[in-house]
Amino acid sequence: MNTTNATNHYDVIVIGGGPGGSTLAAYLAQAGVRVLIIEKEAFPRYHIGESLTGMAAGILHEFGLGPTMDELHFPPKSGVKVIGQEAKSEFFVPVLQPTWQVRRDQFDDVLLKNALTMSAHYRRGTVKEILRDGDKVIGVCYLPADSPQAAMQELYAEYVVDASGRANVLARQGIAGEVVYDDQYSRQVAVFTQFKDALRDPGDMGNNTFLFYSELHHWAWFIPLSPDVTSVGVVMPAHRLKAAGSASAALAWGLENINPDLRRRVAGRERVEEIRTITNYSYKVDPFVGNGWLCIGDAHRFIDPIFSFGASLAMLEAKAASRAILTALATGDWTAPFAEYIALCNRGQSAAYDVIRYFWKYPVFFGYQSRGKQRKEFMRLLSSDVHDEQELPALQMMRRTLQKFDQQ
Ligand SMILES: Cc1cc2nc3c(=O)[nH]c(=O)nc-3n(C[C@H](O)[C@H](O)[C@H](O)COP(=O)(O)OP(=O)(O)OC[C@H]3O[C@@H](n4cnc5c(N)ncnc54)[C@H](O)[C@@H]3O)c2cc1C
Repeated sequence: MNTTNATNHYDVIVIGGGPGGSTLAAYLAQAGVRVLIIEKEAFPRYHIGESLTGMAAGILHEFGLGPTMDELHFPPKSGVKVIGQEAKSEFFVPVLQPTWQVRRDQFDDVLLKNALTMSAHYRRGTVKEILRDGDKVIGVCYLPADSPQAAMQELYAEYVVDASGRANVLARQGIAGEVVYDDQYSRQVAVFTQFKDALRDPGDMGNNTFLFYSELHHWAWFIPLSPDVTSVGVVMPAHRLKAAGSASAALAWGLENINPDLRRRVAGRERVEEIRTITNYSYKVDPFVGNGWLCIGDAHRFIDPIFSFGASLAMLEAKAASRAILTALATGDWTAPFAEYIALCNRGQSAAYDVIRYFWKYPVFFGYQSRGKQRKEFMRLLSSDVHDEQELPALQMMRRTLQKFDQQ
């Protein structure tokens, strides 16, 4: 089998052109690597996940994309306001550095174009199979979007990256570990849409993410996407959707019952998007790195999205994965750089997981402590600055408290 002709052989093939895939491809292409993105959908396309953290802004600035984000009139985000049960309490945690709320159709398009500007290659189509030589992944078999006879094509690479998000291509193909759903969150459902002219706070505060919660795992988001359109979603146990009988009835139930302040903000406002639902959305894949392959972003881990970590963690993991791949290509050491990548992902994902778990156990304390002497650390954690080897004292405190709770 000849795997070396220039048209079907790449250094790296990336499955999926979402924030993770496009960011990785941009870093690799910028460093002179021959990298290909294969993306199933025609961009721009709808995607959920519209609020970025401060750490994501850092990556956007590295690529000089700040002015593009502003030209698209993405609302500048300076923090997150959390409004408690019955709207009787609230707290605000600023971001570490200013960032944006985004329409994902436009944002993902910006990132994909950025990768192409850096000389990444792109093909539209769906990866259907993974090619192996023994246990080593050596390429993919994909169905080009424009193939009249639905003819599959084989492409080869030194390395294959799964950035396919919830499609979990490498896990579903039995190459990465199984997708294991998290008992604490898996029976939840999110029902979401967009409203025109929903009531925002005055001034800059109105550009921020507002979260509303009531009882455990019942919450809602309110994320401004443009000067007049706001993304609104309600999250609830799946049995509530079933009891409501339809997505629109569940949305109506959530808007009415989760929090009076949310009710006030959307009452009588025009809905300008279809109502969508996502179920069973917290999971983990392990292992997520192997011989000739790795996973980034949602392709290996997804956690309760309450603090909007998803797209930003995917981009941060993409940056770390690019470092590992570049080191491996330069040194021929295909082990140590990936061990570092695994450790970094595990640190970040478990920190995010514990912050969210702590919030749900002690939401009122969380708000109180976030205003106290550990405020800066809470800001770092909610900005997804979670990959440091040195565990922040605030995170240590959360973990100690959770451990005591678990032992009770
Ligand atoms: C209810 C909810 C609310 C959320 N809110 C937020 C939020 O406010 N902020 C935030 O940052 N995140 C949020 N998220 C999370 C966010 O959506 C994801 O974490 C983020 O999109 C992950 O990026 P990714 O690049 O890993 O995957 P994706 O963005 O999902 O990109 C994967 C890409 O792979 C492509 N693909 C899939 N299969 C194939 C295939 N076989 N061949 C080729 N291409 C393929 C897809 O078309 C897609 O474009 C939320 C998620 C949910 C469920």
